[in-house]
Amino acid sequence: MLSLERLTVGYDSGPVIHDVSLQVAEGQIIGLIGANGAGKSTVLRTISGLVRPSSGSIRFAGQDLTKLAAHRIPQLGISHVPEGRRIFADLTVEDNLHLGAYRHGWRAVKRDFEYVYSLFPVLLERRTQRAGSLSGGEQQMLALGRALMSRPTLLLLDEPSLGLAPLIVRNVFRIIREIHARGVTVLLVEQNVNLALSCAHHAYVLQSGRVVLEGDASRLRQDSGLMSAYLGGG
Ligand code: ATP
Repeated sequence: MLSLERLTVGYDSGPVIHDVSLQVAEGQIIGLIGANGAGKSTVLRTISGLVRPSSGSIRFAGQDLTKLAAHRIPQLGISHVPEGRRIFADLTVEDNLHLGAYRHGWRAVKRDFEYVYSLFPVLLERRTQRAGSLSGGEQQMLALGRALMSRPTLLLLDEPSLGLAPLIVRNVFRIIREIHARGVTVLLVEQNVNLALSCAHHAYVLQSGRVVLEGDASRLRQDSGLMSAYLGGG
């Protein structure tokens, strides 16, 4: 479904992703794990077209995403939930969701609202509230809900557990599994390795911008020595 081939990406300071190849098969949850600064967010930003690679390709739906303008990428069915959620605190919950709606015609948008509210009843309850007044967990639900307003086929999730209490994290991951069960493929960036591997089918380990390990998530979970070597005790 999504295929990164020999991707190299950098900022003004120099390359941070080196020769990364990665496959996301349709219907799977793929984990991308690695220590702080390994380059995980940069990989997602490159898929979304927010950062341009210096070499390599990203194939999705028969196209090379690196050749497309960033605004065309969500239209192909890719939705990105960035780290830190980036919701608009002063807008209502409903207005935040509206910003995720790409469809034309009120009927389609109405159906998308119904879909999102069926997944997140709490957002329906709080739809007229300022988004900034929501709890951290509810804000993460809102960020997920906004990404789902365009009915993506591929969801890019950047650290959905960040800053949330363990109980709330469990709830967020229950919902990620439910979104997946409804037919959405997921590329999941997580620093919480156990959480990522318990949720993913397959995972890639990134260290200093390179893929140093990949495999079946259940196999990687058993390989604790190998994992701590790459993840600094993780
Ligand atoms: P974290 O979980 O801390 O976000 P990460 O694995 O997602 O880590 P990235 O955010 O992709 O890593 O960062 C990879 C490297 O690129 C780091 O060394 C970081 O300092 C650098 N970097 C990230 N964004 C920029 C930017 N906008 N300009 C310059 N350097 C950047």
